[in-house]
Amino acid sequence: MNILIMGPAGSGKGTMSERIIDAYDIPHISTGDMLRENVRNNTELGQEAKSYMEAGKLVPDEVINAMVEKRLLEPDCQKGYLLDGFPRTLVQAQAFSEIAEKIGKPIETVIALEVPMEVLEKRITGRRVCSECGAIYHIEGHPTKVEGVCDVCGGAVVQRKDDTIEQLKVRMEEYENSTKPVIDYYGEKGLVHTIDASRNREIVFAEVQEALGEVA
Ligand code: AMP
Repeated sequence: MNILIMGPAGSGKGTMSERIIDAYDIPHISTGDMLRENVRNNTELGQEAKSYMEAGKLVPDEVINAMVEKRLLEPDCQKGYLLDGFPRTLVQAQAFSEIAEKIGKPIETVIALEVPMEVLEKRITGRRVCSECGAIYHIEGHPTKVEGVCDVCGGAVVQRKDDTIEQLKVRMEEYENSTKPVIDYYGEKGLVHTIDASRNREIVFAEVQEALGEVA
């Protein structure tokens, strides 16, 4: 199954992605993760992408398109894929339609996770993360047993620098401006399942499965 998942920061996209790839045995193809890995390994692609990423800008389309096309041709994508972070703009979506047709792997369904701004605010500003092992907590929904100390490894649990209301507003604005047109593009093709992701993750995943069931 060929799936695209979309949703703003704090929508639970990471959690849902993990569950989808487990349930459907397909690879999670996150362009952000791929680019970070290339930067870490100092590849030619990483060197090209680094300055854009550090400036918070989008990496040029031709670089991203070629990277995704190459990745989708790898053997683990035979059963399908879960795309995350791409296509991120209307231009990328249009280019990807041509690529996907060429390689015979069109997007079959789009999961769009929606969360009202006030819920996102609560999720993001209450989020805490272990500086040692990366475990994620929430001061209300999932607090550490001892304040400021990770339950898993005993490391210091802190707030991420970008988990503020100001940063959330910037990220939301970017999401609205560049990503909403992508949802509309696939909406016109009748592929979008919009899911209210402000609810409990079990309920949200059940709805995701229902949406994917219609495609399988
Ligand atoms: P993310 O982890 O998805 O927020 O991506 C981190 C950074 O990688 C972004 O700020 C961009 O610089 C770059 N990036 C990821 N996906 C794309 C994309 N589809 N098009 C252009 N740049 C991207």
